[in-house]
Amino acid sequence: MSTQCLFCKSDNTKLYLKLKDYFLSQEDFEIFECENCKLLFTTPRPDKSVIGNYYKSDDYLSHNEHKKGIVPWIYNQVKKVNIRRKFSITAQNRTSKNGDRTKPHILDFGCGVGDFLHYAQKNGCEIAGCDLSEDARKYASEKLGKTIVSPEEIFSLPDSTFDVITMWHVLEHIDDLRFQTEQLYRLLKENGRLVVAVPNYMSYDAQHYKDKWAAYDVPRHLNHFHKESLQNIFAGYFELDNIYPLKWDAYYISMMSEKYIGKGNSFVKGLITGWKSNRRAKKSGDYSSLVYVFSKI
Ligand SMILES: [Zn+2]
Repeated sequence: MSTQCLFCKSDNTKLYLKLKDYFLSQEDFEIFECENCKLLFTTPRPDKSVIGNYYKSDDYLSHNEHKKGIVPWIYNQVKKVNIRRKFSITAQNRTSKNGDRTKPHILDFGCGVGDFLHYAQKNGCEIAGCDLSEDARKYASEKLGKTIVSPEEIFSLPDSTFDVITMWHVLEHIDDLRFQTEQLYRLLKENGRLVVAVPNYMSYDAQHYKDKWAAYDVPRHLNHFHKESLQNIFAGYFELDNIYPLKWDAYYISMMSEKYIGKGNSFVKGLITGWKSNRRAKKSGDYSSLVYVFSKI
């Protein structure tokens, strides 16, 4: 088994954490840290021919609006609040330097069932979306009245197509970060913004739950980022403008993590840890999930 860094190819890597796919398969995985580019990556990585099996669960939701129980309820409430928050971050950062106020053209890369795009559409944006899942594409296309395509189709579009590209908890699933970065760069207009939300393993909830932290979510999450590694991956293409927290994620992730521990009271315990995580992050900036806004160099 190779532990060479999957991004920079350095052999200078070390074991960071041993853990399981607590969510679905219960199989063992490891996370390695690259000493060179600082990326954390999951190993082994399931082959492309079988990775789909790890997403086969009714719980791996993007569309569980009708599930019963307190955790799905929280998930859906958080989702609604988060969509408004995500749109507000995107809108704040979309104005180009010449003050252009025309309808921004937004690509949501990995748009799932299209909830964010639906909100952006209602708020006057021109929208485009892509997703790997055929089911999600079908559902989103109907909801939005617009064809949602596969990533390959997006990669065949001409240069400088979009004002903003958003990736909401998507980059951690991408297995070819270099190719992805080049494509995002090419598709963005000059002065364009790239908005990337990822879990933050430096957060208090991550440190508290260790291998049971739900946002490691191996092997679905292939990469695990923090500020430094994300900037290394985008070096030469994008520069960091702003960072924003997604505070509600701390509660949801902590409740899921408590479920993996399995000692009961996951709702209350998760609420407490989520609150502690946000309180500590006020000083450190290390919230459970962070949104990074980059501009094209
Ligand atoms: Zn590396």
